Amino acid sequence: MHDFVYDQAAIRVIFGAGSIERLREEVQRLGARRALVVSTPAELRFAEEAARRLGDMAAGVYPEAVMHVPIETARAAREEARRLDADCCVAIGGGSTVGLGKAIALDSGLPIVAVPTTYAGSEMTPIYGITEAGLKKTGRDRKVLPRTVIYDVNFTLSLPPRISGPSGINAMAHCVEGLYAQDTNPIVMLMAQEGIRALSRSLPAVVREPSNVDARSDAQYGAWLAGLVLGSAGTAIHHKLCHTLGGSFNLPHAETHTIILPHATAYNRDAAPEAMRLAAEALGVSDAAQGIYDLIRAMDGPIALKDIGMPADGLDRAAQLATENPYWNPRPVEYGPIRELLENAYHGRRPA
Ligand code: NAD
Repeated sequence: MHDFVYDQAAIRVIFGAGSIERLREEVQRLGARRALVVSTPAELRFAEEAARRLGDMAAGVYPEAVMHVPIETARAAREEARRLDADCCVAIGGGSTVGLGKAIALDSGLPIVAVPTTYAGSEMTPIYGITEAGLKKTGRDRKVLPRTVIYDVNFTLSLPPRISGPSGINAMAHCVEGLYAQDTNPIVMLMAQEGIRALSRSLPAVVREPSNVDARSDAQYGAWLAGLVLGSAGTAIHHKLCHTLGGSFNLPHAETHTIILPHATAYNRDAAPEAMRLAAEALGVSDAAQGIYDLIRAMDGPIALKDIGMPADGLDRAAQLATENPYWNPRPVEYGPIRELLENAYHGRRPA
């Protein structure tokens, strides 16, 4: 076994149906008394429920989170936290909401209690992203890592199949890249494999039967592990491509991850054989890339970039952008093969 550094800050996790009942107690546990609850406008009902449970410890509700945390939204939310003299932020929602909580924490150091309602995994990472002048800048800071995460499956039951499937594959992408990340280690690999196993066995049932609490819990468990993997190990070609496509072509986050993952996995197939073997084993298939593609098809998930708004004449530029700055990947990142990968993903072809 090779030497490694395992650097994971402790996060307190409360996992289980109905665990939202512990919200007030958990905020108190952090020594806080005035929590600002943030959500997206669409998840206002969740934020109101959280505020109701907090009672006199709710400083206010701020339901203005939007995808990719525009700097203007971050500034307004920070101002609201100051105005209300908040000493804690409760972020209830998906990655967009947790992202807004992180933007507040980055500025003020307020502790975050996250209540995730999708499978994005942001609640487990010290990674933040803020979009300014059309460019999303990401960074790492321990200050933004939630102190407590409440995984209450009941908040995921309303997630429709067209969001659940891609959101789960977004989580799976963190796991797959964690298996071959440059700084991976045996602990991260264990979590990554178990994350893939949990997600692949639960997602088809989640999509088929959205109110299946057992399948939903299993998916949430997988998403938790995926978030830990993303927070502990670096990423490579898959996340780089998705970041490029999302940022420069405004493609939807989870769907982009879903379409690219089989192709990015195939790209690294020969260069990372052990990671591929572990991923395939966790998926219960002989080839990881094809297994992921089949899983997405079985869930009726998106498979082609052309169906989610990618312009055909943008493929050259996307390949250019994704290859102009060198970064680590098991297989060298070169324009020709990346252009081909994008072409295949554009048409939704089965990875060779
Ligand atoms: P999101 O938070 O925008 O949610 C996706 C959609 O699902 C939204 O329309 C939302 O209203 C809806 N939704 C959320 N929960 C719901 C529920 N329970 N029932 C019904 N609808 C619900 O997106 P996401 O996919 O969760 O997260 C994507 C964002 O998170 C991206 O900006 C991405 O960059 C970021 N992210 C960051 C990290 C990190 O570590 N910093 C990790 C993963 C994702």
